Amino acid sequence: MTAPARPDAARNACPYLYGQEAKAVARVLESGQYGHTDVTEEFERRVADVLGVADAVAVASGTAALHAALLAAGVGPGDEVIVPSMTFCATIQAILAVGATPRFVDIEPATLCVTDQLVKEAVSDTTAAVVPVLFGGRAVDLGTVQEELDERGIVVIEDAAHAFGSYAGTQRVGTTGALTCFSFGPIKNLTCGQGGMVIPRTPEDADTLRRLRLLGVVQSQSERANITTYRVDSFGLRYQLSSIFAAIGLVQLDRFATSEHTRRQLWRTYQDALAPLEGVTLVDVDPDHTVPHLCQVRVPHRDQVFAELRAQGIGVGVHYPPNHLQPAFAAWRRTLPATEQAGQEILSLPFHQHLTERDIEHVVSALGQSLKSAGGSRCATC
Ligand SMILES: *Cc1c(COP(=O)(O)O)cnc(C)c1O
Repeated sequence: MTAPARPDAARNACPYLYGQEAKAVARVLESGQYGHTDVTEEFERRVADVLGVADAVAVASGTAALHAALLAAGVGPGDEVIVPSMTFCATIQAILAVGATPRFVDIEPATLCVTDQLVKEAVSDTTAAVVPVLFGGRAVDLGTVQEELDERGIVVIEDAAHAFGSYAGTQRVGTTGALTCFSFGPIKNLTCGQGGMVIPRTPEDADTLRRLRLLGVVQSQSERANITTYRVDSFGLRYQLSSIFAAIGLVQLDRFATSEHTRRQLWRTYQDALAPLEGVTLVDVDPDHTVPHLCQVRVPHRDQVFAELRAQGIGVGVHYPPNHLQPAFAAWRRTLPATEQAGQEILSLPFHQHLTERDIEHVVSALGQSLKSAGGSRCATC
């Protein structure tokens, strides 16, 4: 294959480093301390400060954050968890990991998010938790159903893997009373290389999560410095965030205002460029409040458009194939019309901080061409 016309447009997503990350990692490597260290704890404090919350618990990944949050909330076998099918498969795997079952719900077509009404219809006596997915970074307001959830003791665990830095109204996501789970994976708004964070609701949550992520081992500061003994108090997993990854996160956090600004600008550039294209609907991320994670459109003849753009070296993607149609989750399949339709129409355009305006023009122009030829070929057969 020949080289793509614009290499950055060939990537759907990729990390953006600010240049200090390698030095920060080198300092940790030289220190010889690669586990859960002061660097990890500094990262936790700094994230809590940025969000304006009392505490934050760092873990090894976004999937680990969801799994640990479900465990900390006491969700387990026999419980049902209300979750949109339109999410990354990690959300569902975390639910299965605690022995609970997913109760898939549909989405609002314009935002690809669940709504309070859709959650309300799905609540049953076996519902233990709701996991709204903050799709593309957009906050989800459970509004009218929140009171009922509180009364029934149903916990809300936000999958905010896309939504670091976004706002729910005037507050940052993570500060609205749910257990909130962030991912700092390679392509997320803020990256550690790999990592995650849970925002606890209470000091008790925080304590439970800290035990869970370190194999249930209890160690004081002095014991940690001089490991002669330790006590295993409870169930736990190896879910700590390595200081190597936390060091990357600290640099990223220092520059997050720039990331936030750039991602919003890029999204708006796409919005303007896409406006004249007929047949294209932009998924609404609420750009005034959101640090966008994706730039998604809905198009007719998606598979054909996808193949044509890929053939031209443009890094389009699909976020996500609906989970209720995946073989692994077939036992919990149900009919979800809006999700199934979205599954056939959504197309993620290249979206990351290396993109320039020229890249975006190139992508949008190729999309326009391919829509014309896809539409044309349909008419030729009808
Ligand atoms: C990335 C992602 C996760 C999982 O995070 P990892 O850090 O990759 O484990 C969960 N849910 C959603 C919606 C994601 O995009």
